Amino acid sequence: MKLANVSGHAVLVTGDRAGINVHQASGGEFGPGPHEVYQRWAEFERWVAAAGDLGGEVAFEPEDLGCPSPSPRQVVAVGLNYSAHAAEAGFAVPERLPPTFTKFPSSLAGPYCEVELPPGGRTDWEVELVVVVGRSASRVGEHEAWDHVAGLSVGQDLSERISQLDGPAPQFSLGKSYPRFGPVGPWLVTPDELGDRDNLELSCAVNGETVQAASTKEMIFPVPALIAQLSDVITLFPGDLIFTGTPAGVGQGRQPQRFLADGDVLVSRIEGIGEIRQTFTAGGR
Ligand code: ZN
Repeated sequence: MKLANVSGHAVLVTGDRAGINVHQASGGEFGPGPHEVYQRWAEFERWVAAAGDLGGEVAFEPEDLGCPSPSPRQVVAVGLNYSAHAAEAGFAVPERLPPTFTKFPSSLAGPYCEVELPPGGRTDWEVELVVVVGRSASRVGEHEAWDHVAGLSVGQDLSERISQLDGPAPQFSLGKSYPRFGPVGPWLVTPDELGDRDNLELSCAVNGETVQAASTKEMIFPVPALIAQLSDVITLFPGDLIFTGTPAGVGQGRQPQRFLADGDVLVSRIEGIGEIRQTFTAGGR
């Protein structure tokens, strides 16, 4: 199934611009927002499977789409989860849990939006597979980790490199949390819809030029390993988001370096899920 956030309402996607309002179709049982749906994910999945043809489609516009999980309790992001990206960033490949930080929830956005660039001119792209948690996870083993996943989405871990790398210790969480620095979408896709949930092509392009292209099978810590290692320390809750790291090809790692500029259009895609698109503006500061 594909589940979208349409103007705050959970919607089962039936076409590019059409879907079924979950709250209405379930007679008020589930929803109204996606966050409420994730809290009862297993029951919701059973209801969808049993409901068959629900009917009652409504149309929506792409601009109506919001982050598939708009109010997570936690947003976990990991760095250096692809060897070629660790190399371009000048770091050793992590042997245990990769470096972990947060993108504060105020940075989340829907799939199609305008993003104001902070001053300084060093804002970078990072296409990432985003996991939405569907069942609480604490000390979960790798073999059962996928059972705790509601679905997958496309995300950008937009990164302002000046504050990210400033001061005596890096400021990853702040440098990656400017408004709309965490666009996610276009919707959540459940893993059963994907040919191979552990091997998805992901890419992004700036003004039509592909700058990142890889597969999630290249992850050093694939989704099950990430969930196992993270849940060894923290409890993951339904609706939580995990940004799983970016492959090589970020602007900072290029020769010469390249960063996002006023008017740039960034399109990010993952096989079987869809694409998101951001336009950047210089802002007024
Ligand atoms: Zn990242």
